[in-house]
Amino acid sequence: MPLLVMKFGGTSVANLERIENAAKKVQKEVERGYDVIVIVSAMSGETNKLVGYVEGTSKLYDAREYDAVVASGENVTAGLMALRLQEMGIPARSWQGWQVPINTTAAHSAARFVSIPRDNIDAKFKEGFKVAVVAGFQGVSPEGRVTTLGRGGSDTTAVAFAAAFAAERCDIYTDVDGVYTTDPRVSGKARKLEKIAFEEMLELASLGAKVLQTRSVELAMRYKVRLRVLSSFEDTDENSGTLVCDEEEIMESKVVSGVAFSREEAKITLFTIEDRPGVAQAIFGPLAEAGVNVDMIVQNISEKDYDEAHPGAVTDMTFSCPINQVERAKKALEDAKTAGLIKYDELIIDTDVAKVSVVGIGMRSHAGVAAKMFSALANEGVNIKVISTSEIKISVLIDRKYMELAVQALHDAFALGDA
Ligand code: ADP
Ligand code: ASP
Ligand code: MG
Repeated sequence: MPLLVMKFGGTSVANLERIENAAKKVQKEVERGYDVIVIVSAMSGETNKLVGYVEGTSKLYDAREYDAVVASGENVTAGLMALRLQEMGIPARSWQGWQVPINTTAAHSAARFVSIPRDNIDAKFKEGFKVAVVAGFQGVSPEGRVTTLGRGGSDTTAVAFAAAFAAERCDIYTDVDGVYTTDPRVSGKARKLEKIAFEEMLELASLGAKVLQTRSVELAMRYKVRLRVLSSFEDTDENSGTLVCDEEEIMESKVVSGVAFSREEAKITLFTIEDRPGVAQAIFGPLAEAGVNVDMIVQNISEKDYDEAHPGAVTDMTFSCPINQVERAKKALEDAKTAGLIKYDELIIDTDVAKVSVVGIGMRSHAGVAAKMFSALANEGVNIKVISTSEIKISVLIDRKYMELAVQALHDAFALGDA
């Protein structure tokens, strides 16, 4: 039997009516002759509520209990979806992560897949079941504890199942009808893309476009999963939505294909650090150990004999990290200073920044993208605080209040609204 994976996000299962609507989409595929693995998220808002319960109970919570609590949202929707399908006369049952079992690492709240044995679900399909409804976002650790995969992790569950079960396609049903040139909530001129290359989607996702979890795109690329993003609110067929695929499958390609942004950024500067070999390691080593995801880094040019207190060469080091890791970063740096591992006069934290990025595989072969980006931002009076680049993206850190303006200006500058 050919098999499809269909994933429904939070807004697509937000209430009983929406679950019924999603179940009808599953029914259509069953009638077309597919066995279906349905991956569900928690009802929208539910995971945030559960995270709030945990944080309201314990500040420095035990991550194993955090996972036990926040994974429960998906258990509810999996059961409800199976019940709805049964009501429609479709043989279906729900599966929680441990029942499959979805084996993951023990990295609670950020677990990674280790294996997804097919035997249990395959046996049920053989018995005549048509649909396996699997709770997304969760798994089980080697110790037998419930784990979760990080926010947005149901996308990754869906792709992992598509790979493990050699599905014909992995369809991600959500509240937009595809991947756009930028978040349609921020720019009314955003345009839906027919296709997007894995590499571009990977950059967009990791730079803040939450339409797909980054890890899901990585897995799809590695296991050659045909991945599609489409609307759960509209009538859809096999040509709907956006296909995430190899770049060879895409005929026309612009130099820049999308603009991504992330609000949840912070900038940290260490003033007057020594400029000598080993200093960067002394700073970023403790940050890594503390689990801080450092993103952009800039080091100022060195000053000799800055003042009497600083003989020799000194410089400043600035880096960015997710805003919710600022406290951890601060503690790691202060502890390293107390332990005599690093010296600095001041630690300055700016939590009013955002990151805006342009992404496109065309950048590999085109010069002038950075110049165009910087001039578009300058024309709007937006000051750039930190810049970082890779082969196919340029990111800037700016004041958060200019984020929307910057996204719109860049969308216009690269004519992304034009087909
Ligand atoms: P789900 O609950 O279905 O997983 P998410 O909220 O995680 O849905 O992801 C869908 C949202 O991603 C959209 O509502 C949209 O606001 C946002 N988004 C950000 N960037 C993009 C983009 N480039 N294209 C489409 N949607 C985007
Ligand atoms: N419910 C989880 C979250 O909100 C996982 C997901 O929806 O993908 O992050
Ligand atoms: Mg999501």
